[in-house]
Amino acid sequence: MKMMTILIPIITGLLLSVVVNYLADVLPLTRKFSKPACPQCEQSRSITDYLLLRSCRQCGQRRSARTWLTILALIGLSMYVWTKTPHRLGYPLSIFIVAYLALIFITDMEHRLILHPTTIFGAFLGFGAGWLNHGLYGTLIGGFAGAGIMLALYYLGVKFARYRARQMEKAGQSPDDEEALGFGDVTLAGVLGLLLGWPLIWFGLLQGILLAGIFGALMIAFMLIVRKYKENALMVFMPYGPFLILSAFFLLFVPRWITLVVPK
Ligand SMILES: [Zn+2]
Repeated sequence: MKMMTILIPIITGLLLSVVVNYLADVLPLTRKFSKPACPQCEQSRSITDYLLLRSCRQCGQRRSARTWLTILALIGLSMYVWTKTPHRLGYPLSIFIVAYLALIFITDMEHRLILHPTTIFGAFLGFGAGWLNHGLYGTLIGGFAGAGIMLALYYLGVKFARYRARQMEKAGQSPDDEEALGFGDVTLAGVLGLLLGWPLIWFGLLQGILLAGIFGALMIAFMLIVRKYKENALMVFMPYGPFLILSAFFLLFVPRWITLVVPK
């Protein structure tokens, strides 16, 4: 019987990975539930070829590494959540939230894009799950606080980007239009605020931004070593979304994590 019960999270993880891969393949490019196409030659794929993870029939392009990684990751995460579910959320809702976060993580990594329809969907999901987990007020305050804090940082980032563009003009370089924070990060922080609730969203954002900072510093160190570092390629211009998502994941689904990082 034990063998049978472990099949449930494996199959659920596999099915959700198909959905997440599909949405990550089509949504950023076509903004609708379109037929999947080869990213190389744009030949549309048959459903069977797509589901069986076959290479493109026209150009031979293999399925992306992300496709395989997502399958493995979601099966693994599903098994993890199955055994470690925070009890008030329950396994079905928990794994659904994990799959949702995985989709945002992938599209932000691959396209630096957080799509509005997925954010709106996430707001409903976050509101429902938040309400279950920490009540109505904690959820609403968390959502507003998450978006509010990020909005303040967003405007700081806009100011900084303008200042930087002026400096680059003065130095005779043509300014790029890099922004420190995308507006997608603001709406994502709102969704995570609903999910985490108040005051946990504070730690969620702080931890996410710190994680991004540490990662950025490591990247700079690496680029200094391989001598590719340019002063203007400042690491403030990187996607924060994936780090915010990682941070929220640990706070939501790793029970011991909260007792480690959040002061009583
Ligand atoms: Zn192709």
